[in-house]
Order: sequence, then C-alpha cells, then structure tokens
Amino acid sequence: METKQFKAESKRLLDLMINSIYTHREIFLRELISNASDAIDKIYYKALTDESISFEKDDYFIKVSVDKESRTVKISDTGIGMTKEDLDDNLGVIAKSGSLKFKKENEIKDGYDIIGQFGVGFYSAFLVADTVTVISKAFGSTEAYKWESKGVEGYTIEPCEKATVGTDIILKIKDNTEDESFDEYLEEYRLKSIIKKYSDFIRYPIKMDVTESKLKEGSESEYESYTEEKTINSMVPIWRKNKSELKEEDYNNFYSEKHFGFDKPLKHVHISVDGAISYNAILFIPERTPYDFYTKEYEKGLELYSSGVMIMDKCGDLLPDYFGFVKGIVDSEDLSLNISREILQHDRQLKLIAKNIKNKIKSELETMLKNDREKYEKFYEAFGKQLKYGLYSEYGSNKDVLQDLIMFYSSKEKKMVTLAEYVDRMAESQKYIYYASGESNERIEKLPQTELLLDKGYEILYFTDEVDEFAIKMLMSYKEKEFRSVSSNDLGIEDDDNKETSKEEEKENKDIFEGMKSILSGKVKEVRASKRLKNHPVCLANDGELSIEMEKILNAMPNNQGVKADKVLEINVNHDVFKSLKSAYEADKDKFNLYTDILYNQALLIEGLSIGDPVEFTNNICKIMK
Ligand code: ADP
Ligand code: MG
Repeated sequence: METKQFKAESKRLLDLMINSIYTHREIFLRELISNASDAIDKIYYKALTDESISFEKDDYFIKVSVDKESRTVKISDTGIGMTKEDLDDNLGVIAKSGSLKFKKENEIKDGYDIIGQFGVGFYSAFLVADTVTVISKAFGSTEAYKWESKGVEGYTIEPCEKATVGTDIILKIKDNTEDESFDEYLEEYRLKSIIKKYSDFIRYPIKMDVTESKLKEGSESEYESYTEEKTINSMVPIWRKNKSELKEEDYNNFYSEKHFGFDKPLKHVHISVDGAISYNAILFIPERTPYDFYTKEYEKGLELYSSGVMIMDKCGDLLPDYFGFVKGIVDSEDLSLNISREILQHDRQLKLIAKNIKNKIKSELETMLKNDREKYEKFYEAFGKQLKYGLYSEYGSNKDVLQDLIMFYSSKEKKMVTLAEYVDRMAESQKYIYYASGESNERIEKLPQTELLLDKGYEILYFTDEVDEFAIKMLMSYKEKEFRSVSSNDLGIEDDDNKETSKEEEKENKDIFEGMKSILSGKVKEVRASKRLKNHPVCLANDGELSIEMEKILNAMPNNQGVKADKVLEINVNHDVFKSLKSAYEADKDKFNLYTDILYNQALLIEGLSIGDPVEFTNNICKIMK
C-alpha cells in the first residue's frame, strides 16, 4: 500500500493563519521581537558552549525604527541570523520552527528562555504589513540574503548586502482602508507602548529613537525637539530579582507602573516556587476598594507571563472570586500555550498555580490578622464584604478558607472581632453564637430583642452588611457552635423558672393573644408573651429559616418574589402597656383594636419595616391622645 503525504494548500493556510489565530493586530511586534530575542539567545548559547566565540552583552540588542514617509517599521537584531536555507526552511514553511529544532538539537531543557516553538509567529507580520522583507546574515557566513513576500503570493530569496551578522525585518505597513486605520503602527508612542506591554521583560535591550523636547539653549521658554536612542524595556523583571535586593519602594513603584491602582498597596507578597510546577509571582493587596470593585464591570485576574513575555493581562482563573481584589503577576515557563500564545492549552498547570496562590493569600492574611491587627482591619474594611460573599457563594464550599478571616462588630468589645475570639470567650452556659441584624451598629444597639441577652452578659455580633446573614446561614456553625439571631424563636436560654411562669402567663393571656392575632389576621403568625423583653413593650420575632432582615433584602432586589418571613409579635407582659391592653380587652373592644394596631406598627417601625398605612397609624395615635 502506498502512503501518501498530506498536502496543504499553503496559500489558504497562510490566510487562515494570519486572520484566525490572533485576536489583536498589535501582537505582530511581540512575535517579531520574541524571534529577535531567540536569535540573540542562540548566539549567547553558542558562546557558552564554544570558547572561540566571545559574547559581549553590550553588542547584542534589538532595534525598532519607523519611517513614516515610506510607511515602514524595521525590527533589527544582532542575533544568529539566517542562511539562505534557513530562510527557505523557517520562513517558507508554515509551522516549521527553527527555534524548536535548536532547542531539541542542543538539548535545551526547561528554564532556558527560548520562546519560539510553533513556527507561526513570524507570519503575524502580515496582520499589519502588505510586504515583508527579511535581510539576514547568518553567524559564520559571509553572504547575506533577502527574503521578501507579499503574503499569499509566495516569496523570493536573493543575495544582498548586509555588513553585520543579524536580521532586519522590514514591514511595509498597510494602507488605511475604509474600516480600519493602520497609521497607529507608524506612531512612535504606540510602538513604545506595545513594547512595554508585551516585551518589557525581554532580556536584551529593545532600542528606539525617541523624540523628546528640551529648552532651547539660552532660552527660557522656547523648546526644540531632539532625537535620542533609548532602551524601552526594563529587561530584568522585578520578580526575578532577589528579594533581599528589593525595597518596599521598588514594589510600590512596580504597583503604580503597572496601574494596579492609584493607592499604595497594603501588602506585597513575592513568591518563587520551584517544584512540580515552577513560577514566580508578585501579589499585591490594595489598600483601597477600587471604585468599580463591587460591580459587574470589575474584572479580576493576574498578569500572566511565560518566559518573560506577557500572555494575558488578566488571567481570571488564577484567582478565586473571593480574592478577586488581589493584583499582580505570575511568570512561569511550565505553561503549555496554544499557538497564538494568547490562550493556555491545558489548565492543569494553571490550576496548580491557582491553588498555590490561593493558599498563599490565605496564609498571608492570617498572618496579618495575627501580627498587624490594625492593618488587617483596614484591609477588612476595604474587602471584607467580598470574603463574606465568598462564604455565601458556591454553597458554602469555601468555608475552610474564609471562616477565620471574617470579622463582625461586637456588642462587648465595641470593635471588630473574629469568630474564634467570640467562641473562645463564650460563657459556659451559652449555647449559641448570637447576632443581630440591622442597618447600622447604632440601630442594632437599640433593638429591644437584644435586651435579655445583653442582660445575661452574652456577646452579640452586629450584622450590618446585606450579605452577613446569608453568609452565616451557609456557614451554619463555627467550631460546632451554631449561629442564632436575637430575633429567633428559640434563644436556647435555659431558665426553668422563667419558663414555668411564662407558660402560666401564656395560658392566662391566651385569649388576649388570640384576640390580637385575629385583629392582625394574616400579618403575624402568632402573638405571644416575650421571654426576651425587659424594658420594651413589644418586638417582632421570627419563626423559620427566613429572617425579617432577609425578607427586606430579598424584596429590595429586582424581580423579587414578595417573600415573607413568618413574623411573631412578642408582648412584654410585665410592661405597664400590657396592663392597659388587658383592661381594654376586658372592657372596651374598640380600644383593644386600636392598641393592638398601634403595638404591631411600633414593632414594625423598630425593625425598620414600613408600616402598611402611616396615615391610619398617626390617626390612631391621635385618637389615644384625646
Ligand atoms: P517560532 O518562533 O515559534 O519558531 P516563527 O514563525 O516566529 O516561529 O519563526 C520561525 C522560525 O524562523 C524561527 O523558529 C527561527 O528559526 C526563524 N526566525 C524568525 N525570526 C528570526 C530572526 N529574527 N533571526 C533568526 N531566525 C529567525
Ligand atoms: Mg516566533
């Protein structure tokens, strides 16, 4: 049987390549600079293994120049260059990578920086150019060659003149079309910013002639422009530098250079991991909440680099949502990229890094909480809500990461406390972790429902964020202690005497309560004597899972379902008001009606709920004042 070779329709293939692999035209520069860097790396590698070659670092660089008049951009390098055969092989055959071959032949393993591997990046030049000219003189050769192509029509190779070893890539930038302008690729500032964005950490200098202006000599107001060759890239990434060489200020500068925020970072974490997967990372915890943080517009993620080249500017998969405020970069050589180098091929390595990073952030926050409380509280003020959202989301599956990081305001300490601190100082008799929900600490402080608990000296956590109660419902318990709302039906307070008397009272007052319930028909599930009230005459409690606070929140949402918490009206039978209510019940049914209505509405007001009919309510008050 005869085996036939696949043939590719190279014209169509090239067209496909150019127009479907890349999503951003600007990456042509990243690809050509990466090739130039590889070419220099190859000479460097040869020099390492061959003593007859000397490698003077200063002699090796990449230069980008623009000529607006001829609409050309030139990328020159002093790298290894290409022979006639190399030009034919590497630039004439799609998907042939001379760099990959070089790595294999020289058994270059991981940890080396050669970037190329797919053999397609070069063709991205056609994203912006209609003609590409390559002039190259190979190391150890005396002849130079010119390769030229207009894209799909094929290419030519002919001998030419070039004084030094290396390669010039000349792009004739496309003319503007009706829909698209290509002029931007002839602008110095635009090229500079593309270099900064993708190639800032290429290890060799990327030079450009930069136009600047200065005061004319002898003048105080007249400026003149001049051109100077400058190195655009930073070369050595800060994360590859030794931690001991770096100062707080260096990290802060990096933070603002990268536009991670206008604030100063509250904390930085510099990680170098060598193991199953190797990577370097610098993470920042910002000091202030970005203005759009709690909106849909906010996009979490870390900058991702592979061998010093930027792959993604916001890799969301590296951060769980609840740590979405973290900024920073990750650089790893162990990532498998797809051929556009824009997307990652496998996410196994990425998942490993993400897990590592998550644990690192967690432990850093825990350390901050332990050693620098003030700083932690500042952090918590900015991002605590996000941690609580994290507890609530994904069915509470992140509780191990988050439960020791959350804090609430405490009735006892009058400041933020952790759950561990609360549980540690719970009285022996105390069964539950108590919390009260409300709009603000000041309002919660005055809630009648808290009276009994405070009287007993129990600590109450104040829930003032909408998410609080939902998060805690997900958490269910902390160190085996369940959470209990101060408005809950059962506060778990064993007080037998009290229980007995209230049972009696309940019996005695049963008819009154039944009477009230029928007046309030449909509004409350039950009316009963309160065990928790001391000085206040009434309050609302709730039966069942849905609390009154949650009802408020759910009903404030768009397309709410009008859910209702089961409300119980509790009456303080030791209060003078109850005596009046009792005598009204016995003597004057109209008055009893009136009192019931007023008491119920008062309870609503205390909860911060709106009352059904404010006019009727005020009229009723007037009636009893007469
Ligand atoms: P890759 O970089 O993934 O190998 P490219 O399409 O970018 O693929 O480049 C193809 C090949 O062409 C490279 O592997 C390299 O051998 C050669 N090449 C491209 N640019 C240069 C250059 N500036 N100097 C020397 N060789 C180059
Ligand atoms: Mg390449």
